[in-house]
Amino acid sequence: MLVGVPKEIKNHEYRVGLTPPSVHELVARGHQVIVQKNAGSEIGLSDDQYVAAGATIVETAQEIFSRAEMIVKVKEPQPGECAMLREGQILYTYLHLAPDPEQTAALVKSKAVCIAYETITGPGGGLPLLAPMSEVAGRMSIQAGAAHLEKSKGGMGLLLGGVPGVAPGHIVIIGAGVVGTNALQMAVGTGARVTVLDKNIDRLRQLDLVYGNRIATVYSTGHAIEEAVLAADLVIGGVLVPGAAAPKLVTRGMISKMKKGAVVVDVAIDQGGCFETSHATTHADPTFVVDGVIHYCVANMPGAVARTSTFALNNATIGHALALANKGWRRALLDDAHLRQGLNVCQGQVTYEAVAKTLCYDY
Ligand code: NAD
Repeated sequence: MLVGVPKEIKNHEYRVGLTPPSVHELVARGHQVIVQKNAGSEIGLSDDQYVAAGATIVETAQEIFSRAEMIVKVKEPQPGECAMLREGQILYTYLHLAPDPEQTAALVKSKAVCIAYETITGPGGGLPLLAPMSEVAGRMSIQAGAAHLEKSKGGMGLLLGGVPGVAPGHIVIIGAGVVGTNALQMAVGTGARVTVLDKNIDRLRQLDLVYGNRIATVYSTGHAIEEAVLAADLVIGGVLVPGAAAPKLVTRGMISKMKKGAVVVDVAIDQGGCFETSHATTHADPTFVVDGVIHYCVANMPGAVARTSTFALNNATIGHALALANKGWRRALLDDAHLRQGLNVCQGQVTYEAVAKTLCYDY
């Protein structure tokens, strides 16, 4: 199969659909890969590295879209890219169609076969092509929080680990899923005091077994959250209620009673956020202050570490990319019920129930 990788064109998007090692995997199985010039140059993946892996470099996105049988990307196609998609061409990328009627209409019109990373399921449950980005965001949340506790970034001037003779800071993590567990791992590494809250008692049991008395696990109630948040220097919000907006677990009243110069990192902001005072921010201007508390609410945290995120994403996407290239989309989807869950639009039809229902398409 001829596989194409265009350079991402969404604002501040530096990730790339295939890394050179992923190109090598495809080429080793007899496929051809064309990569747009400078597709990975912003994150240290040079055209020479792609050529060494067996790719051919082409100048323009038009050439990729007009020749490739499968397009591998990261972000949803922008309007100009949708217009270049062809009937029967496979598009394999993040789509997030439910809140995006314009993109959905454009993909329907294209008659392409559109497989969304975010709805592919895994044998162990969960959404394995979303998990790597939650891992990145969870780990990054502590880094971002620590930086903004520094005086020059508006914080209270606190070193999370303390020093001999000075007590460490206190990190509170709300939600112990993929984001929370990865945040926890970094939080413990800082030497700070760490409290983690979740409603899932089994998750708390597992964490207790791993970390023992190095952390405090607390069952999440309104009262427990208030008590923890008021004692915290850094609060990470990583809750998710599947299919729903994030619950506003930390109220405006709690924020107003927090320590001045404390930091909250609302990772769940892409689902509306779990702090009542949150609104989405960007990497260009990541924070704002409410009642003396620094809020970091970047909706696309993995974008800041685009190189790590690209490799993490490729680890999760390459297996299905190989299946699609080896077998063609029909056989690959018939053989794998989890990959089949990724099919959102197929040759002019919306094929993912939640998207069809939300946007009123026949299903
Ligand atoms: P997950 O499903 O793995 O974990 C969510 C956890 O929240 C679960 O353990 C659940 O029990 C817990 N939870 C639900 N209600 C709770 C409550 N009332 N109190 C305490 N805990 C509660 O999800 P995840 O992969 O960790 O993702 C978390 C959020 O982070 C999602 O909204 C996701 O979209 C978002 N996210 C954001 C970014 C970003 O760049 N901002 C990146 C990746 C993920």
